[in-house]
Amino acid sequence: MEKLSKIFKRVKYSVVSSLYPHTCGACGAVVETEGETLCEDCRYSLEYIPLDVDLTPLAREMTQVQLSYFMPLLSYRKSNIESRFVLNIKNSGVKRYGIEAGRMMGRMINARVDASEFDCLVPVPITSKRYEMRGYNQSELLCLGIEMETGIPVRTDLLVNEGKLVSNSIDAKRHKSATANKYQATDEVKAFRGKHILVVDDVITTGKTIRDCSASIMEKCDSNVKVSIAVVGMVSDLLGIYEEQNKIYTKDIFQD
Ligand SMILES: [Zn+2]
Repeated sequence: MEKLSKIFKRVKYSVVSSLYPHTCGACGAVVETEGETLCEDCRYSLEYIPLDVDLTPLAREMTQVQLSYFMPLLSYRKSNIESRFVLNIKNSGVKRYGIEAGRMMGRMINARVDASEFDCLVPVPITSKRYEMRGYNQSELLCLGIEMETGIPVRTDLLVNEGKLVSNSIDAKRHKSATANKYQATDEVKAFRGKHILVVDDVITTGKTIRDCSASIMEKCDSNVKVSIAVVGMVSDLLGIYEEQNKIYTKDIFQD
């Protein structure tokens, strides 16, 4: 029952924010200026990962891929405003949340590295079925925002998510359906041999998505390509700064 009411709360919240789009993407409060994404309070109290913290070695360990840079914007944990922001980027139907989060990422990328190092942005794809249901891919919205701030062009044709049928497995349970993600780099990515690709996703939880995407790109390019990752949110317990009790969040909330 408790679980049901939780789900209901979440659904209700998503519906409210899409009906009244002038609400804060994190706390749901009405924002003062039309089209504003976050209220003043949330904008300043979000838990930004400090720019002098380099989590690239940790991401390499998690993914077993020689990533060039790993750049997360926020750390999140269960029910904090960062997590609600991330959920709304994905599920609320309000596209400006994703675009604005992308702009925040773009500014973070500019502050961390020289953005001209990157040759293109690649959003982590969702399956066509999910795209139909949701109406957009949140990672594409993030890329649009990053492009606005950095000028790095977006390529949506380099990675596909064909989905794969799974049954009676942990994957099937996790995805609450018979389809799991299956990422595959396309032949177009071969044109990026010797170049640097920035893959963009909403969150990193287990690192599996990032690993699958990066590994497929590298394989197609015969390992002659640099791959970096930018995400909105990183589960805070990966940073080792929160208590055990937050760990359940990684498994329960995000299914993509
Ligand atoms: Zn707010």
